[in-house]
Amino acid sequence: MTSIIDATPSQTGPVAPNPARVLVCRGCGTEYPLIAQHACYECFGPLEVGYDAATLARVTRADIEAGPQNLWRYAALLPAGQDPTARVTLDPGLTPLVPAAGLAAELGIRAPLWVKDDSANPTHSFKDRVVSVALTAARGLGFTRFGCASTGNLANSVAAHAARAGVPSIVFIPGDLEQGKVVTTAVYGGDVVAIDGSYDDVNRLCGELVETDEFEDTAFVNVNVRPYYAEGSKTLGYEVAEQLGWRIPEQVVIPMASGELLTKIDKAFSELVEIGLVEAPANGWKVFGAQSAGCNPIAVALHADTDVITPVRPTGIAKSLNIGDPAAGLYALEAVRRTGGWMDYADDDEIRAAIRQLARTTGVFAETAGGVTVAVLGKLVASGRLDPDAETVVYNTGEGLKTLDAVAAQVGPTYRVKPSLRAARDAGLLG
Ligand SMILES: *Cc1c(COP(=O)(O)O)cnc(C)c1O
Ligand SMILES: [Zn+2]
Repeated sequence: MTSIIDATPSQTGPVAPNPARVLVCRGCGTEYPLIAQHACYECFGPLEVGYDAATLARVTRADIEAGPQNLWRYAALLPAGQDPTARVTLDPGLTPLVPAAGLAAELGIRAPLWVKDDSANPTHSFKDRVVSVALTAARGLGFTRFGCASTGNLANSVAAHAARAGVPSIVFIPGDLEQGKVVTTAVYGGDVVAIDGSYDDVNRLCGELVETDEFEDTAFVNVNVRPYYAEGSKTLGYEVAEQLGWRIPEQVVIPMASGELLTKIDKAFSELVEIGLVEAPANGWKVFGAQSAGCNPIAVALHADTDVITPVRPTGIAKSLNIGDPAAGLYALEAVRRTGGWMDYADDDEIRAAIRQLARTTGVFAETAGGVTVAVLGKLVASGRLDPDAETVVYNTGEGLKTLDAVAAQVGPTYRVKPSLRAARDAGLLG
C-alpha cells in the first residue's frame, strides 16, 4: 500500500547537513556552542555563526539550482532550515533583479544597473529572510514564543511568521511608527507593544526583558537569537550572484540601519568565492552604504576617518533605518574600507525625490529606505566615489505602500475631468 509518507523523500530531496559549527565572537574570536546567545562573555562583542569550511565546500551550483524557488535553495549555506519540515517560514526570497537602464541614464551610469527588489517578499521587506532563518533556529532551540525589537518591517514579518506557524508573538515598536507598518503588523493578531521612545529605547528594553524568567520562552529574533537572524541576510548576496549567472557585481549600494545587512551581503560574496561557486570580479567588489541625514552615525564616522561611532537621536522619514546606535556599525565600516567603497546620506527631500525617480524609471515603488539608497546612489555617482562604468546593484529593501505619507502630498491625479468628451477636450486631453 502506498502511503503519503512514501512520497515525501522524492518531493523534498535529501536533507543537506547543517554547515554551522560554532558561534564565534566578532571581537576576540572566542568560540561558543550553537545556542541562544548573542554576546561574548569575554569581551561583550557580538557573536556570529562560524561554519565548517569542508561542509560548505561540498555545496555545488547544481544543488542550489535544483532547490526550491525561495531562500531555502541556499539552506546548505545557512545555520538552520536544512530539514524542510522543521522550517518556520513564509518561503521568502528569489525576488526580482530588475534592470534599471532608465535610472542609469538619468544618473549618468553607463554600465548595467540593477535594482534588487526585495519589496516582493511575503511581508514586503527583506526582513522575511532574517526572520525565516531566526525563527527556524529558534524553534530548533525550543522557544515557544516569538518576538523582536523593531523599526517596523521586522515586527510585520515576525507577526506574520508566528501566525503562519501558529505560535504566539509579542513585538515591540517605537510609538511613532507609520500607520502602514502598525496595521500590517497588528492584523496578524499577536501582541504589539508600542513604546513611548525611540528604536534604541525599544531595543534596550527588549535586552532587559529577555533576561527575565517571564520571557525565558521568547526568541527575540534580533536579540537572543541574533547570530542566526543575521545570517538570513546573506541570501541577498547569494541570490544576486546567482541571478547574474553566478557573477558578483563590481559595486553594491545597501541601506544601513544596524549595518548588519551590509556586512552579510559582503560575507555572502566572500563565501561564494571561498567555496569556489563564483569567481571574484577582476578588481574585487566594492560595498557602499546608505543612511538618511536624520540618522547617519556610520557614514559620519567614515567621513571623519574614525572607528568611533557616536550614537545619535534619529529624526526624519526613513524610520525603518532609524537606529541611532548601530550594532554592526563597526563591521560595516570595515567592509566598506576593505573593499574600497564609500558611504553617504540623504535628507528627507532627497529621499522623496528618489522614491519618485525610482518609481518613474523602473516601475518599483520603494519605501523610504529605498529612497535613501537610490538618493545615495545618485550622490555617489556625482561625487565620483562610484564608478559609472562598473556594473552596480542597488538594493530596495521595502515597499512604498507601507510609507505612503512620504510622497502622498506630492503625487495625485494629473487631471480632474467631468465624464464627457467635451470636458476631456477642454482639459487638454485631446491636445
Ligand atoms: C531593517 C531594514 C534595513 C537595514 O537593516 P540592518 O541589517 O539593520 O542594517 C534596510 N531596509 C529596510 C526596509 C529595513 O526594514
Ligand atoms: Zn569576545
